[in-house]
Amino acid sequence: MQNEILLAVKNFHGHMCPGLAIGIRVAEKALIEMGDRPGDEEVVAIVETDNCAVDAIQFITGCTFGKGNLIHLDYGKNAFRFIRRRDAKAVRIIVKSENLRRSNENETALNRKIREGIATKDERKKLNDLREQRTNEILTMPLDELLVVQNISPDIPHRARIFNSVACDRCGEKTMETRLRILEGKLYCPECFDALMKK
Ligand SMILES: [Zn+2]
Ligand SMILES: [Zn+2]
Repeated sequence: MQNEILLAVKNFHGHMCPGLAIGIRVAEKALIEMGDRPGDEEVVAIVETDNCAVDAIQFITGCTFGKGNLIHLDYGKNAFRFIRRRDAKAVRIIVKSENLRRSNENETALNRKIREGIATKDERKKLNDLREQRTNEILTMPLDELLVVQNISPDIPHRARIFNSVACDRCGEKTMETRLRILEGKLYCPECFDALMKK
């Protein structure tokens, strides 16, 4: 991955970390599997986690939450599916965690100290160095050592649809019609509906 892309991803996410590094490598593999940066909505990413990695995947592959071609499944797994609409090619990329150096005891202890606010300046630096080492390992590892690609059957979600917006009968704010709730013949946005139900 080019340095300028790495820097742009880091700026987008806010910092460089092992999780982001994993996302960068997954995105790299996804572009190889799906073809270079595909057109808008041509590829759908389904991510099975919501950790740092997902920011790199959004930034590099262009699959984003707002466009509707990034879908989160709350499985808590480092696994990422990509589906190409044109020919229904579908892969699931998983991380070979056994090949990754875990954050060792040392790092865990340092993390705890920082959380508790009792880490010294030296200890902070030490933790940063350890994380940087792991990040660099991930960024430079051969892709085949880091990732496994599985072929999966494509289950293509519908393209983003545009819905009408209708004013809520209580707050008056326009709300997507699929989100409105009906109560005693009136239409309410989810927020007002919840507020009325609590009364
Ligand atoms: Zn991060
Ligand atoms: Zn309302």
